[in-house]
Amino acid sequence: MYDLQEIRNEFPILQRQIYGKPLVYLDNAATTQKPRCVIEAITEAYTNVNANVHRGVHFLSQRATEQYEDARERVRRFINAKSRQEVIFTRGTTESINLVASSFGDTFLGEGDEVIISTMEHHSNIVPWQLQAQRKGIKLRVIPLREDASLDKEAYTTLFSEKTRLVSITHTSNVMGMTNPVKEFIDIAHSHNVPVLIDGAQSIPHKKIDVQELDADFFVFSGHKIYGPTGIGVLYGKEELLNSMNPYQGGGEMIQTVRFEKTTFNELPYKFEAGTPDYVGAIALAQAIDFVESVGIEQIAAHEQQLTIYTLDKLREIPGMRIFGKPDGSAISFLVGDIHPADLGTLLDRLGIAIRTGHHCAQPLIDHFGIPGTVRASFAMYNTYEEADTLVAGITRVAKMFE
Ligand code: PLP
Repeated sequence: MYDLQEIRNEFPILQRQIYGKPLVYLDNAATTQKPRCVIEAITEAYTNVNANVHRGVHFLSQRATEQYEDARERVRRFINAKSRQEVIFTRGTTESINLVASSFGDTFLGEGDEVIISTMEHHSNIVPWQLQAQRKGIKLRVIPLREDASLDKEAYTTLFSEKTRLVSITHTSNVMGMTNPVKEFIDIAHSHNVPVLIDGAQSIPHKKIDVQELDADFFVFSGHKIYGPTGIGVLYGKEELLNSMNPYQGGGEMIQTVRFEKTTFNELPYKFEAGTPDYVGAIALAQAIDFVESVGIEQIAAHEQQLTIYTLDKLREIPGMRIFGKPDGSAISFLVGDIHPADLGTLLDRLGIAIRTGHHCAQPLIDHFGIPGTVRASFAMYNTYEEADTLVAGITRVAKMFE
């Protein structure tokens, strides 16, 4: 039984009114709202267990350390990583990708080496590689899109060369809400002995992730997109690969011994967690994962898929509606006639409807379509059919104003 009202009751912000209208929050791809248990976990951690982790002999430090490491174990279980050593806490998807670009780059990339990305990447999975291109002279090879905006698998297979060192692609497009068959892409890369990073920012809240089944070499995501707090995220990496990479940042925690003559580094996962980690964020992220598991990720996915199909059907009835890609359960991007996305977004906001407009940090994809941007409605476990109706009615009303 998927009890939407019961789920909604757990999210205090959903009771808010915006301009005197009930909030219709459809900007979940940017960030999700937080259930009460996550908000309370943060308060509880600061109220009762706050102390710096790992370095203390005293009671509070040991409790905080236990909870932080327990959070790591819960993340490990959630994504089915083999060991805790493979779960590194970062600030989010962006930092996780920058970590790999920097550390994998330091260790394995040199002049003329190639990294394969795709046309539909978020800027977070483009710019870190461009920085490596400037620093190290690596080259980016870009997977083109087919007519239906899916990744062109045949073209992808031709991009491999002797110089290919890594493939880094998104699981689900943050613009089109369209999921890529990444397992096939991983298998192809592995047949060339090339490791793969999967950007899971938009897939982690919407589908069961099993990193071993995917056989991803790296999998990255942000806590705030799966009902957890901001400022915490995860880098999963295969142990052998992480062990072979240089550290990312230097500082406390990531060292074993420091002498002016020579410093040795800590073991995994601490080697990549320099400085005081966001242990409160990690504890609250684990709480968010527990919450998702209590509702059931398969149930959430089914609800969001049905809601997407329902919304798509209704949207398609609006004259001048243009939908981008083939959304499958997380987000829908569209334009209506000649209405500028920013105008549509601003007018919908006055109706209490929060959607996002613009390039969604994926300018190459927006350029591919030759448009100024899109309007994006994105879903979470708590969105309702009434909210979809309100969105469609709002768009219809705005479109009439522009006639
Ligand atoms: N990758 C994708 C596909 C995203 O959708 C986002 C955020 O929207 C990111 C990366 C960056 O995530 P963050 O800003 O949490 O680091």
